[in-house]
Amino acid sequence: MTYFSRQRDVKKTRKVHPCEACERPIAKGSKATYFAGTFEGDFYSAHYHPDCREAENAWNAAAGFSGDEHTVLWVMFEEGDSDPHFFDTDEARTFRRRLSQDCPAVFTRLLEREAARATGEAA
Ligand SMILES: [Zn+2]
Repeated sequence: MTYFSRQRDVKKTRKVHPCEACERPIAKGSKATYFAGTFEGDFYSAHYHPDCREAENAWNAAAGFSGDEHTVLWVMFEEGDSDPHFFDTDEARTFRRRLSQDCPAVFTRLLEREAARATGEAA
């Protein structure tokens, strides 16, 4: 098994990309974080809002997750409707409260994602 990944900053995106962490669009011409990796021979890549990626990495580091254990931010954000649950109910509440205080823009995008899913809007 080989695991490879790298990350770089994009100064200006040339087109709209969905953010891997919050699934909301990253506007054309804005800053983004590009991530690419291989896992068991498969290549994958993703774009992130820079602050989403920072928050996702920080919460993974706090949980002691690395490599293929890395968990996407929106998975952490969903408490009731994901299985298995990333957090128990108390931890999920703490996560939401701290995210809303520390990264309000990221928190807002995750709420927008939730609202969009509730109304059936495509990501
Ligand atoms: Zn995002």
